[in-house]
Amino acid sequence: MAVPKKKVSKSRRNMRRSHHGLPTMAHIECKNCGELKRPHMICSHCGYYREDMPVLADASAEK
Ligand SMILES: [Zn+2]
Repeated sequence: MAVPKKKVSKSRRNMRRSHHGLPTMAHIECKNCGELKRPHMICSHCGYYREDMPVLADASAEK
């Protein structure tokens, strides 16, 4: 396996990762609570996905 010749400094590593952040474009408002969430993902604030698919409500009911 190829091995890097030199250690990448914290500065250089962080400069590389400066492009890793998500743009605000990648978020939409949750229809349930109005919080920003990512499309096709459940809302991290209220657990809402879609009216006919209450993801977290089902999971808590089973246990
Ligand atoms: Zn929500």
